[in-house]
Amino acid sequence: MADKPLNAPAMFDLSGRVALVTGAGSGIGQRIALGLAQCGADVACVDRRTDGGLAETVGMIDGAGRKAIAIAADVTDRAALDEAVARTEDELGALGIAVNAAGIANANPAEEMGEDQYQALMDINMKGVFFSCQAEANAMLKHGKGSIINIASMSGVIVNRGLTQVHYNASKAGVIHMSKSMAMEWVDRGIRVNSISPGYTATPMNTRPEMVHQIREFESQTPMQRMASVNEMVGPAVFLASDASSFCTGVDLLVDGGFCCW
Ligand code: NAP
Repeated sequence: MADKPLNAPAMFDLSGRVALVTGAGSGIGQRIALGLAQCGADVACVDRRTDGGLAETVGMIDGAGRKAIAIAADVTDRAALDEAVARTEDELGALGIAVNAAGIANANPAEEMGEDQYQALMDINMKGVFFSCQAEANAMLKHGKGSIINIASMSGVIVNRGLTQVHYNASKAGVIHMSKSMAMEWVDRGIRVNSISPGYTATPMNTRPEMVHQIREFESQTPMQRMASVNEMVGPAVFLASDASSFCTGVDLLVDGGFCCW
């Protein structure tokens, strides 16, 4: 016999949940942190600097009537992430949701890219996501429950025409497959791990000098003929964080305006 129907809107309710968001001081991470709070979660906002953006995120969450704390941590520092998780649990409660959005992007032709540039990006985009997941899962495994969402990119699926960013593309393909691998390791211990792969999204990452002239290109290459707003990453994140996605794990959710169809 079929189960009784659920109250569908309640499945998206995050009241009483505690979330940690890395990269919460800017762009996609900032808007997702606010979105989780608007759905009821208290949020630990992590970024490498506490000035500027992170204070703004905490202010917005306060304004939404939820608790927020600002934590300075570099995602390449495993001990700092353990401390961030411990502080989150001390000050807000048991960690149930994590969104790992911290990341960087830059470009250089493959044949010219130096080891330092390659390694620095890999350390943040791939090792940083792995360290974040490790620290978060070590808390969640104790509770037998949790949802981890890694922000990958459509660049982990396609190669962006005109952008010489082999290390970035490889790091994002790595995040997608790392997420699936961890999803399977923890599948019988209550933790779901999924990734979101945004297409071109209007954030400070895309306003760095070498990108400005590309914006028209980004818009015209995207089937929807525009870039995403950061707001358009919130719904997918709330879905994957909440009970609405209780049977989803190991999924890479492309949010790309149709880009990967063409
Ligand atoms: P953003 O506005 O630059 O935000 C990224 C945040 O992460 C910044 O506050 C940044 O701090 C922080 N961060 C960087 N390295 C860190 C570290 N080692 N430890 C802790 N925090 C660190 O960029 P965004 O566009 O929102 O990007 C967020 C995520 O989405 C990234 O993983 C990115 O690759 C992915 N993504 C973006 C797009 C897009 O079109 N924007 C598309 C696909 C995927 P600083 O400002 O100090 O660097």
